[in-house]
Amino acid sequence: MTTAALDHDRLAELATRAGEELEGAPALEILGWAAEQFGRSWCVTSSMADAVLPHLASRAMPGVDIIFLDTGYHFAETIGTRDAVAATLPVTVRSITARQSVAEQDAAYGKDLFARDPDRCCALRKVAPLAEALEPYVAWASGLRRDESASRADVKVVSWDPKRAMVKINPIAAWTQDDVDAYIADNGVLVNPLLFDGYGSIGCAPCTRRLAPGESGRDGRWAGSSKTECGLHT
Ligand code: SF4
Repeated sequence: MTTAALDHDRLAELATRAGEELEGAPALEILGWAAEQFGRSWCVTSSMADAVLPHLASRAMPGVDIIFLDTGYHFAETIGTRDAVAATLPVTVRSITARQSVAEQDAAYGKDLFARDPDRCCALRKVAPLAEALEPYVAWASGLRRDESASRADVKVVSWDPKRAMVKINPIAAWTQDDVDAYIADNGVLVNPLLFDGYGSIGCAPCTRRLAPGESGRDGRWAGSSKTECGLHT
């Protein structure tokens, strides 16, 4: 077995054990564990729907890298939230772009690929850029929550990400929307203004709409299609 494979085995074991031992622990403790285990070799991903995770992570490790996937299709409010996070929190925001601009993608695949083949569009503008952005790290943290959708109901606070051979940290997996709202209110955390304008979840503008009556959470993402995830967490 190669040294890399041995390292992966050891990390996978560490992640599985931490997932059990840290279940029920406060989010800050889970992020503190990440800082202790991985030093600078972990990062946080944020869609800039709010700055809860960047805020928590900056308390666990000031200067922590925050990865933002700048797909070229974001709402202006999301870019503004990203810039405000970078300006006001002790974090290092890394904006990651796809290899092709939107114009180059239109030229190569035809205009508005998102409308014809959103999986391909997400693969080009989110999944591949994230894979490259994560290369320097051993572990990554995301703001996945179990109450967001059925596909996220079993998310662990720490787990092994076999697709990327990395430790995955989901410190607010067990939080509810009320927990998020309370943390925002108690800590004056930045929130994307679109959440006050009828949106329940923030993604790329062409694939995100306001919630309709009776809808909640991620219902406004890829509305009218069977797609529920962009492929970052699968
Ligand atoms: S969410 Fe829509 S616009 Fe954004 S990358 Fe995916 S398909 Fe493309």
